[in-house]
Amino acid sequence: MARDTSPQCKQCRREGQKLFLKGERCLTDKCGFERRAYPPGDHGRGRQKQSEYRVQLREKQKARRYYGVLEGQFRRYYDKASRQPGITGENLLSLLERRFDNVLVRLGFAASRRQARQLVRHGHWTINGRRVDIPSFQVREGDVIALKAESPAVPLIRDATELTAQVPAWLQADHDSLTAKVLRRPERREIMTPVQEQLIVELYSK
Ligand code: SF4
Repeated sequence: MARDTSPQCKQCRREGQKLFLKGERCLTDKCGFERRAYPPGDHGRGRQKQSEYRVQLREKQKARRYYGVLEGQFRRYYDKASRQPGITGENLLSLLERRFDNVLVRLGFAASRRQARQLVRHGHWTINGRRVDIPSFQVREGDVIALKAESPAVPLIRDATELTAQVPAWLQADHDSLTAKVLRRPERREIMTPVQEQLIVELYSK
């Protein structure tokens, strides 16, 4: 399965803001963006040309990197969102937000989406009692998430729960039993992704 393996701190530097892709390290002074808050590459500190297209492209790249989704898959999310009733940009964010790997991060069960993806791929989690090893799996209202019995990942997951201050209202987490429930779909105001989705819609609508 294809996945994004490019250096994560460079991604934050390219997007000009912290995307919190590395878990605990992002909260320390080892953060790559804190050390070098300019784009990577030989011309990183040079003047950047701003155009409407560039702004829209950067917004799309930022969303893609935030959720750790590759280009083709991101495009498919957009196509699906545009076929759904409602506002396309909000549909797009809702689809990305309900990815299983992202949900584990929101619940505090993983420190980063990469870690969440690995835990899912290695079969540590169940949904409604059945093992789910697909990071892009879309969770639904009423789904019950639980750690597989006797999973060796418990210490790692407990460490991650300590990094999480608050679980969004559309989810319910029990950090003692390491179980959770999806209460409903997220509303736009509950999706804390630093992205202006309208710019992505404008880019793809050209
Ligand atoms: Fe981004 Fe985290 Fe790297 Fe900082 S440490 S640049 S927030 S991935």
